[in-house]
Amino acid sequence: MENATIPVDRTAQDRLFINGEWSEAANGKRFETLNPATGEVLAEVAEGDAADIDSAVSAARAAFRTDTWRRMDAADRGALLWRMADIIEQRADVLARIEVLDNGKPIREAKIDIRQSIDALRYYAGWTTKLHGATIPVRGNLLNYTLREPVGVVGAIIPWNFPLLMAVWKIAPALACGNTIVLKPAEQTPLSALELAAIGAEAGLPNGVFNVVTGFGETAGAALVAHPDVDKIAFTGSTAVGRIIMRAAAGSLKKISLELGGKSPNIVLADADVGAAARGAFSAIFYNTGQCCTAGSRLLVHESVRDELLSGLVDRAGKMQPGDPLDSKTRFGPLISQEQLDRVLGYVEKGRAEGAQLVAGGSRAQYEGEDRGFWLQPTVFDGVQPDHVIAKEEIFGPVLSVLSFSDEDEALALANASEYGLAAGVWTQDVKKAHRFARDLEAGTVWINTYHPGDAASPFGGYKQSGFGRELGEYSLDLYTQIKSVWVDLN
Ligand code: NAP
Ligand code: MG
Repeated sequence: MENATIPVDRTAQDRLFINGEWSEAANGKRFETLNPATGEVLAEVAEGDAADIDSAVSAARAAFRTDTWRRMDAADRGALLWRMADIIEQRADVLARIEVLDNGKPIREAKIDIRQSIDALRYYAGWTTKLHGATIPVRGNLLNYTLREPVGVVGAIIPWNFPLLMAVWKIAPALACGNTIVLKPAEQTPLSALELAAIGAEAGLPNGVFNVVTGFGETAGAALVAHPDVDKIAFTGSTAVGRIIMRAAAGSLKKISLELGGKSPNIVLADADVGAAARGAFSAIFYNTGQCCTAGSRLLVHESVRDELLSGLVDRAGKMQPGDPLDSKTRFGPLISQEQLDRVLGYVEKGRAEGAQLVAGGSRAQYEGEDRGFWLQPTVFDGVQPDHVIAKEEIFGPVLSVLSFSDEDEALALANASEYGLAAGVWTQDVKKAHRFARDLEAGTVWINTYHPGDAASPFGGYKQSGFGRELGEYSLDLYTQIKSVWVDLN
């Protein structure tokens, strides 16, 4: 691997960021973050826990109470978010490198994340001056109007698959609406969140408005969810932890929004452009090494096009080789951790044991000729049955389950037979069928003849056990504001 060192001065930014200052964890502990491509230690960061969460929440509460943030002129708040986007843009190369080294994703994909982070900050920068209430024609000689106000202190907990982007998806709308934030990044990928804290400070966020506490879910994360002075938790991660958070939030009746797992169906009808569908199905499952909550991990194929589609897919999968993630030609990265590699290999074993046919991959891949890092070959199982574990559970790795169907009702029933409902894809050249499927699929996002596009302006979120609340677009403003009704006697 090309020089795999962190490209910034880490003397400050490897600590917690609380109330505008860098500090060690109160317990003095630190933990390591690894480079997934090589398995080597990349950096150490502070291991914050309940005491640090408490300091960060106090700072966020104090910052929320002052007039400097929530009553700042909306245009100025917008300008500040825009400035953060400008700094990210200027520092895109450094940030991309940090993200590649900490997460393992190819730099080409890290740059897409950074582009989207900039877009989201600018999109919400524009909303600050458009957050207004309404005047309501009530009975009587009364004036009734509404105020749209921030919810207060927001706790944001995010996963490791898109570290910078997931942080921005939460902080951009939360800040635009005038909230203050405590962010707990994933233990595997803490570095870009710390950079984001530094960027916020440089852009001019008042102290305490945006705090970052690195640490573990079971300690720092749980303390944030349980904290009585946190008004809202915005979470992205597994459905299992989503359930824990929902239970824990009941104690203080926090508002919560949950962006959880998926087992998204990608449906190829008999009349599809099979070449395009094969390319689309490939990136649907293998983008970000399958570590996308929206991964098209169940490919449902009409039996008449199955052989052609599958040969295209298997052919491409065989050509994907591990490459230096810092090389702009690399298209495929490692998994995030040894734990995740073992977990995914466990699913490969289950698939074999249940009788699905392994037609591509299935084993650990070598990197630079050695068994190091957390690499897995792109893996495809054919002949998967609806009751197989690999057809039902979220694997979160580069493993595709292919199921076939013989008519469209069967395809729809198979697609919807999941506890999840995050996303779905449909490939067809018949516009009526496309829109019928879009209507009937139980999913928060439906892609037709494409897979994975997203935009800061378009809502994103889950049906069923993929969570609730919509991030991005104007819908996200509802997650970070509350409405006050004001009555005035005009007599
Ligand atoms: P996770 O446990 O759900 O982690 C997401 C975030 O929640 C992390 O910041 C985590 O901290 C934190 N967390 C964990 N337990 C918590 C608790 N009790 N209270 C508060 N916060 C808590 O996901 P993971 O461990 O990274 O991955 C496990 C599996 O989840 C993956 O294999 C994958 O299947 C799925 N996953 C799904 C998504 C998605 O977007 N759908 C994203 C990530 C993972 P730590 O970093 O310290 O664990
Ligand atoms: Mg975890």
